[in-house]
Amino acid sequence: MKEEAGSLKRLPIKKADILLALILSVTGIFLLLIGRLNAGENSRLWVRGYQDGVPVFEYPADAQVRTTIHTPDKTGINVVVIDDNKVYVDSADCPGKDCVKRGIITRSGEEIICLPHRLVIRIEGGEGIDVMAD
Ligand SMILES: [Zn+2]
Repeated sequence: MKEEAGSLKRLPIKKADILLALILSVTGIFLLLIGRLNAGENSRLWVRGYQDGVPVFEYPADAQVRTTIHTPDKTGINVVVIDDNKVYVDSADCPGKDCVKRGIITRSGEEIICLPHRLVIRIEGGEGIDVMAD
């Protein structure tokens, strides 16, 4: 055992290992760049809700969630559904119900706005902040 460990240490690691590390890091950077390019398409998307510009919820877009968002004064609600990359307001008690009529959004950058409730629901690409699991 001692001899084996000793011989391992004496293996000619230098060039091959440096080359390997180089290849790996270049590959990593390459993959990262590809990921960035595809951020609006395939990589993980997040559904974020903002009330008066303040984040109130965040879920992965491929989650299956039905959540009720109350207005800050508790007089109104929006029922937000996230169903495998489809996001919509299922029901709301706002006047006009434009947020419900907006229908389904699926792509990064799309948003549902409920003006009376000052609620914005937006699909955003990129890396998530810490997920608030329900
Ligand atoms: Zn609304």
